[in-house]
Amino acid sequence: MKKIKSMSYEELEEYIVSHGEKRFRAKQVFEWLHKGVRSFDEMRNLPAALREKLKTDADPEVIETETVQISKKDGTRKYLFRLSDGQMVESVLMKYEYGNTICISTQAGCRMGCAFCASCKGGLIRNLTAGEILDQVLAVSADIGRRVDNVVVMGVGEPFDNYEELKSFIRLIHDSRGFNMSWRSITVSTCGLVPYIKRFAEDFPQVTLAVSLHAPNEKIRNELMPVNRKYDYSKLLSACREYVRITNKRITFEYILIEGKNDSVKQAAELAERLKGILCHINLIPFNGVEGKSFAAAKRRAAEEFRDVLKKNGFEATIRRELGSDIDGACGQLRSRKNQSQN
Ligand code: SAH
Repeated sequence: MKKIKSMSYEELEEYIVSHGEKRFRAKQVFEWLHKGVRSFDEMRNLPAALREKLKTDADPEVIETETVQISKKDGTRKYLFRLSDGQMVESVLMKYEYGNTICISTQAGCRMGCAFCASCKGGLIRNLTAGEILDQVLAVSADIGRRVDNVVVMGVGEPFDNYEELKSFIRLIHDSRGFNMSWRSITVSTCGLVPYIKRFAEDFPQVTLAVSLHAPNEKIRNELMPVNRKYDYSKLLSACREYVRITNKRITFEYILIEGKNDSVKQAAELAERLKGILCHINLIPFNGVEGKSFAAAKRRAAEEFRDVLKKNGFEATIRRELGSDIDGACGQLRSRKNQSQN
């Protein structure tokens, strides 16, 4: 079956024409797919014969909603989606003053092995296709009855470990004939796969890049993030400096504050020293408890002191507001709980 939602407009045209159909049919199919219809039968302006042909030859890459949890505190909606082969992925919709933001997944599982993260339990199962990544946005838009305003690629998986599908997804969601999302409304977060940082800067200079740093130095980053043994801290920071040079854009650094591990004022000063001269925003993230991990969140006071040291050093730094804390907020929690209950 041809994965039809993952196709670019041009690929879809080629596909439709190769079936002896008129070119404008591709436009119709593309528009229906990107409006989020769930079957070829709903594509009402297509001739019945074409709909039948598509049913036997093309996969619309539709994901099924397994559960939706809605936070009573802040309205955050957490979705568990089932892919066509039974794999589960998660998306979260958060409401902010400036619109709503969806956090989406790019892989079922993850092979990066970060010590604090629930997504890597069980390793990487498989990459998502561009169509499956896109369908999370379409399914949530349909559920809430309005457009999703922003996308952050910060759900389960390492987006740069699935770079080609990520690239197709970003081009698809930006396509003005489809969802038409602006570059600026998209953020991609990486744990630091260095070679892709430059590629991303060149491919998508207007999309925001977030880099998960989580440590003030080599030693602590090695302990928390195995990826650091392959692409070390200084290589990562050089790539970040290059990113800013190429794109002229601010980079976002994410830094989880873990009590007694990376949250002292001394470590804040060390971090400030290392990041000197990089145009950036530092997003301090309260650690979200994960079953089976012994880490604890930094105290509010420690987080504020950490932020203040960064600010005093001229950095823009904020503590991320916690949303959805009553509904399995952190990455991969819902999916891993579901897997456990199935075992
Ligand atoms: N693989 C990518 C994107 C997915 S994770 C990356 O590493 O950036 C998105 C963010 O959530 C990352 O900064 C990640 O480190 C963070 N995260 C993972 N587990 C967390 C937890 N238990 N509490 C708080 N943040 C967490």
